[in-house]
Amino acid sequence: MPLLAFDPPPQPVVPLLDEAALFPVRRIYCVGRNYAAHRREMGGGDNPDPPFFFSKPCDAIVPPRANPPYPSVTHNLHHEMELVVAIGAGGADVAPAEALDLVFGYAAGVDLTRRDLQSAYREKGQPWEAAKGFDASAPISAIKRWFGPPPQGRITLSVNGQVKQDATVADMIWDVAAIISEASKLWRLEPGDLIYTGTPEGVGPLVRGDLVEGEIDDVGSLSFRVT
Ligand code: MN
Repeated sequence: MPLLAFDPPPQPVVPLLDEAALFPVRRIYCVGRNYAAHRREMGGGDNPDPPFFFSKPCDAIVPPRANPPYPSVTHNLHHEMELVVAIGAGGADVAPAEALDLVFGYAAGVDLTRRDLQSAYREKGQPWEAAKGFDASAPISAIKRWFGPPPQGRITLSVNGQVKQDATVADMIWDVAAIISEASKLWRLEPGDLIYTGTPEGVGPLVRGDLVEGEIDDVGSLSFRVT
């Protein structure tokens, strides 16, 4: 077998809640506009489209207790608090009724967004890549192994102790089973995939030094400081 030309990059991992093992990250998919009130604050209408997806590189993960740097180029970094689905079994073209069989667990995550770049790209009809998939753009909590119906509870995010996002996961337009089913029509899902399921209303800017704390009932919490 030929030698690699250089050492391969480290495998991005996320710790499991109360378990020694680590979850190796393969891909990060994200859902856009999955809560009605957030659709409206982003200027969208009330008629839900089918879920649409974008992605982040797997090494954009910011594991628990790490602090993301304020990214380059942007002057309007936004927080988007989201339920994250961790995939533990592979599948393509999975029906909604079987979709939850692919779930390994859930985590709390923040889809950090260069909002100014996203708006500029949207106006020009260009891809969102650099607005969403930048380095250290995917903070995440430990992953909690999960069986049964998905989390439905409260999802909150505060900045420097002030609550900015406070909503209910059950208010998603596309629920976890629908998201997995739709994603699996577009890509074969594999163990190690993460899906950020969209943010509720109340997104807003972050500046250097801000302390961000997020929590999802029954799932977990994360906190980080923007450095
Ligand atoms: Mn998002």
